[in-house]
Amino acid sequence: TSSWWSGVQMGPPDFIQGVKEAFMRDTNPNKINLSVGTYYDDNGKPYVLSCVRKAEDQLRAKNLDKEYCPISGTPEFCKRSIEFALSEDSDVIKNGLNATVQGISGAGSLRIGAAFLNRFFPGNKAIYLPNPTYSNHTPIFTQAGLHVKAYTYYDPKTCGFDFTGFMDEISKIPERSIILLHACAHNPTGVDPNKEQWAEISQLAKKKNLYVFFDMAYQGFATGDIDNDAFAVRQFIKDGHQICLAQSFSKNMGLYGERVGAFTVVCSSKEEADRVMSQLKIIIRALYSFPPINGARIVTEILGDPKLKSDWLQELKGMADRIISVRSKLRDCLKKVGSTRNWEHITNQIGMFCFTGMTPDQVGRLIKEHSIYLTIDGRISMACVTSKNVESIARAIHQVTN
Ligand code: PLP
Repeated sequence: TSSWWSGVQMGPPDFIQGVKEAFMRDTNPNKINLSVGTYYDDNGKPYVLSCVRKAEDQLRAKNLDKEYCPISGTPEFCKRSIEFALSEDSDVIKNGLNATVQGISGAGSLRIGAAFLNRFFPGNKAIYLPNPTYSNHTPIFTQAGLHVKAYTYYDPKTCGFDFTGFMDEISKIPERSIILLHACAHNPTGVDPNKEQWAEISQLAKKKNLYVFFDMAYQGFATGDIDNDAFAVRQFIKDGHQICLAQSFSKNMGLYGERVGAFTVVCSSKEEADRVMSQLKIIIRALYSFPPINGARIVTEILGDPKLKSDWLQELKGMADRIISVRSKLRDCLKKVGSTRNWEHITNQIGMFCFTGMTPDQVGRLIKEHSIYLTIDGRISMACVTSKNVESIARAIHQVTN
């Protein structure tokens, strides 16, 4: 053959992007896309937070240059990010035990973490992920060279958390393995452990000597309260876990395309944190050399300006509240259109997504017969449900689940 690449086979479309492409091809004017994980306002329009616009104005007025920032991001961005996660009076931060770097949003931060663990983790280089999990987790960890395994998380019978199944399985994981936990608003299920369960999970992980990797992509977006959403991360730290943490500002600041996040390794001493930091920089330098500056400046501006920060917290609460209220609306509408199924999980689950419990067959019918698009696992993004489309969504769901 004449080309170097004739042996390259067509790969499958991305799990989410594939649905979006099918949606784009649909000519039905009433089509609805419930697959995307970004926030829309009640008019179904992308939403840029006004605190972000103000931060951009302030930054423009500063007339900053475009020089490279440090490989690990600016110290101020890193400090503000980790203080946001752990709280400003965190002993970890006060004692310099955190090695924190800017990442290219949540996914890029996970990728740095994966590379670091693959190179340096002294235990069993297998990472246990919840079943199901964020569709990009397995590719990220696999491509970084870790062995990916799954643990029981979701109970299809209750559309809730399978605490017993989870504890059972975690207690069987080989000691000194890595376990990934979603800090809040689990994607795709919207199902989280409660606070008592988190405390028990922390104890078990301690007893089993497991290394805990937290993925926190929705801090503040889940309940509207940034401290409440960081409960699990802070509890594990209180219990003495040396966690690592990937943070994202995509959802809680609506900065999706700006790609801002952070990755932190909690260490046992300042000197150890310095050594870890030096290796994180080596990893980043070879992956993409320097992080992008714009989004990180916006985040730093908001977190560092008391007025902008309080505006932000209010807007964040507004987004979380809209999601919570649209959950009730969807449940009410399902009842109104005559569904007698138990839809309690719609309001029990939290965050961006609702794991409806619909079968692949039912999802297929929603797409074919109603032009309502969602991923085959039955996940709908509550952010795409509005006061205008909620009734037609409910009617269609009722028709395919009746
Ligand atoms: N982690 C989880 C659990 C997510 O749901 C997402 C986004 O959907 C991410 C990480 C990464 O998002 P981003 O890279 O846009 O910050």
